[in-house]
Amino acid sequence: MLWKGRRQSDNIEDDRSDSGGGGIGGGSPGQFRIPIGGRAGGGGSIFLVILVVLAGWYFGFDPSTILGGGDGGLLPGGGGQITDDSGGQDSGTAPANDEMKQFVATVLAETEDTWTGIFKSQGLTYEDPKLVLFSGQVRSACGFASAAAGPFYCPGDHKVYLDMTFFQQLDQQFGASGEFARAYVIAHEVGHHVQNLTGIMGKFNQMRQGMSEADSNQLSVRIELQADCFAGVWAHYTGQKGILEQGDFESALNAAKQIGDDTLQKKMQGYVVPESFNHGTSQQRQTWLARGYKSGKLSDCNTMSGAI
Ligand SMILES: [Zn+2]
Repeated sequence: MLWKGRRQSDNIEDDRSDSGGGGIGGGSPGQFRIPIGGRAGGGGSIFLVILVVLAGWYFGFDPSTILGGGDGGLLPGGGGQITDDSGGQDSGTAPANDEMKQFVATVLAETEDTWTGIFKSQGLTYEDPKLVLFSGQVRSACGFASAAAGPFYCPGDHKVYLDMTFFQQLDQQFGASGEFARAYVIAHEVGHHVQNLTGIMGKFNQMRQGMSEADSNQLSVRIELQADCFAGVWAHYTGQKGILEQGDFESALNAAKQIGDDTLQKKMQGYVVPESFNHGTSQQRQTWLARGYKSGKLSDCNTMSGAI
C-alpha cells in the first residue's frame, strides 16, 4: 500500500504508556461481542439502509444497552483463547513503533475520507471515530479489555481500540502478513463504527437481548460479515485512489480467511463448533469482504437477510 506521505489522522489517542489504566478494571470481562449488522436497502444508500433497519427493527433503543455490548472486534469471542502467545505485554516496544503508528493514522485518515464522502453523498454527516492505541490492557466505555481479545470497537464511546502487537500476532500466529491485512483490521473496526452511526448496531444489541446464545451468535455473524463488507467498500475506494499495490487486496482476503471462526477453531482446538461461530467462517468472511470490494456499494452489504 502506497501510504507514505499521505494524510495522517489526528484522531489517534496514544495510551500505550498507560499500561492499562490502572488494572482495576471496570469489572467487565474484556471481551466484547460484536454487534451490528447492517442491512442495505436496495438502492445502496445509507439512507435506505437506515430506513430498512428502522422499518424492520425499530423500537427505540436504549443507548445503555449498547454500552454493555461493545463490539466484537475482529476475532471470535472466546475470551482469551485466541491469544496466549505474543500478547501485548511488551511495553518496551510501545513508543518505538512510530512507523506503525503512522501507518495506522494514515489508514484511519483514508477511512475518514472515504466514509465522509459516502455519507455526504447521502446527505449525511460522518463523525470520525477515535482510535486508541493501547498496550496490554485498556479501559473503555465498554469495560476493561485485554489485548488478548483483539482489536475492537466500542459503540459507547465511538472508539476503535488497537494494541499494535496484534499485527505481529496476525502475521506470526495467524499467518496473515502484509500491510493491507492490517489495514483490513482497522477498516473492519471502522465498519462497526459505521454500523453504529447508522443505527444498525443499536438495533442489533437490542435484538439480541433475550436471545439464546446460539441465535445471538447467528445474528453476530451477520453483523460481523457486514463489517467485513464495509471494509471491502473502503478498500474499493482506496483502490480507486491508485494506492493499492499488487497483492494488497489478496493479503486482506487472506487475513479474512485466517481469522474465520472455523479456521481459528480448527487451529486452536482441533475441531469446530458451528453453533459457537460469531464472526463467520473463512469462506463467508472472504466472500463479504470481496463483495464490498468489487462494487463499492453498501447495497451489496446486506447481510441481515437471506443466505450468507
Ligand atoms: Zn467485528
